[in-house]
Amino acid sequence: MSNSIWKKYITKQIQDKKINDNIDVLIIGGGLSGISTAFELKDSNLNVCLIESNEISTGTTSLTTGKITYLQDTIYSDLESLHDFDISKKYLKSQIYASKLVKNYIEKYKIDCDYIENDSYIFSYKHEDKIKIDKEYNILKKMGINAKITNKLPIKFPCNYALKVEDTAVFNPIKYINTLVNIIKDKIKIYEHVRALTITKENGNYIVDTTSGKIKTKYVVVCTHYPFFIIPGLIPFKTHIEKSHVIASKVDKIEKFNAISIGKQTYSIRYYKDNDSYIIFAGESYKMSNHVNYQQRQEELKIKFEKLFNKKPEYEWSIHDITSNDLLPIIGSASNSDSNLLLATAFNKWGMTNSILSGKILSDIILKKDNEFIDLFNPKREITIKRTINFLVDSFNISKIYISTKINKNRSFYNSNVKFENIDGKNYGVYIDENNKKHIVRNLCPHMKCSLVFNYMDKTWDCPCHGSRFDIDGNVIKGPSSFDIKKND
Ligand SMILES: Cc1cc2nc3c(=O)[nH]c(=O)nc-3n(C[C@H](O)[C@H](O)[C@H](O)COP(=O)(O)OP(=O)(O)OC[C@H]3O[C@@H](n4cnc5c(N)ncnc54)[C@H](O)[C@@H]3O)c2cc1C
Repeated sequence: MSNSIWKKYITKQIQDKKINDNIDVLIIGGGLSGISTAFELKDSNLNVCLIESNEISTGTTSLTTGKITYLQDTIYSDLESLHDFDISKKYLKSQIYASKLVKNYIEKYKIDCDYIENDSYIFSYKHEDKIKIDKEYNILKKMGINAKITNKLPIKFPCNYALKVEDTAVFNPIKYINTLVNIIKDKIKIYEHVRALTITKENGNYIVDTTSGKIKTKYVVVCTHYPFFIIPGLIPFKTHIEKSHVIASKVDKIEKFNAISIGKQTYSIRYYKDNDSYIIFAGESYKMSNHVNYQQRQEELKIKFEKLFNKKPEYEWSIHDITSNDLLPIIGSASNSDSNLLLATAFNKWGMTNSILSGKILSDIILKKDNEFIDLFNPKREITIKRTINFLVDSFNISKIYISTKINKNRSFYNSNVKFENIDGKNYGVYIDENNKKHIVRNLCPHMKCSLVFNYMDKTWDCPCHGSRFDIDGNVIKGPSSFDIKKND
């Protein structure tokens, strides 16, 4: 069962039960991007509300590794080849800006979030990946970054070549959010356990239908990790989902660095200190459309962790993030006709800097202030040829899993407690629990009608196309689906 190191820091934030039904700005989603947006709007004269379908910071932000770094795999050489040097340089500027912004807030508001400045590394453990590090080194140097090449990490770990930069950090994202919420809660209404279901337009306003009634608002800010609608924005056609597995365990002392390997199979390392010291190790990443035996991947990571660090895991969890097919996050107005419907998604596994940046960009759009990064992340940006190629690859993978889960629902790793039944021509997934009770759900994701796979790690039904997750009785626990599985869909 997933058990993240950060969960113990989550605090209940629930406020009024009676929801405000006529407001200026509705923020949907209480992860780092939603709370950062609310924080940036706290001193405006606008009437702002935030709704969260679960509890504040229980989404992806509670499952992250929490590095605040502009060294993000080989993003700068990748962005140069997908776009051009100027776009890559602007992305670097945006990440340094966001890193400084979070540091300023931590200092200004004395936020106790175990923030530690350290060095970031990207490293290779296979000879063929060395060349990619050289490419990243050259572009970072050209951009004025004081990057250094080395052939080892500060700890004993398989590595034949590495690049190091300074002025990066790690923190505890939940403690950071808890303080932001305390600062804003007298000015911004926060409602937990309220799920947005649909958004419609009426006389220039938006009507958001939620599980607690309808809300009329001028602006809607969708910070739900993955938007729960397809139009506007067409996010399913601009992104794919990448899942990773994470392990944490106590160590004698922390090391002041964080690192991520490059190449086909990436591993990420960081340390964390509260009363005890921990290592947080992530890896076994894959496109969710390409692998569905999640428990096996967790076991593989566990074997590696035990071998490399000679420790047993104390915390184990898995999580996915969204990657855009042009590698730039998607932040801003969803479409020309929906300029007051704003999105923040596809942080490509670098959502600490990008969530904080989203808060600034989205609030500047609402407050009609200039922001030099609006164009870079604009959801309506032009479709390049290379982006189209990535779109075709992603669409092929998603179509493949869509069809294969329709034709062959059974998987070799399913035990006898997972079955499929055809009732009146409709397919149902059946999970038989420890007490021999049958839990039957329609095997169809309400989001885009993909078939579901059973996740033994968390005992959930998961959508391998876009990442929605449901409990064994079909109640939605993670979007993009905003609906539970209907029994008779
Ligand atoms: C393994 C892994 C490691 C990572 N490590 C790092 C790292 O070291 N550094 C880094 O920069 N990034 C990292 N990331 C990425 C980062 O964690 C995420 O991009 C970021 O947390 C996303 O924040 P968010 O606010 O957009 O989403 P979330 O935290 O998921 O917040 C969205 C919220 O919206 C709510 N919601 C959803 N639907 C609805 C609805 N219909 N109505 C109301 N509420 C709704 C959810 O319950 C949730 O609380 C990592 C990602 C992965 C997968």
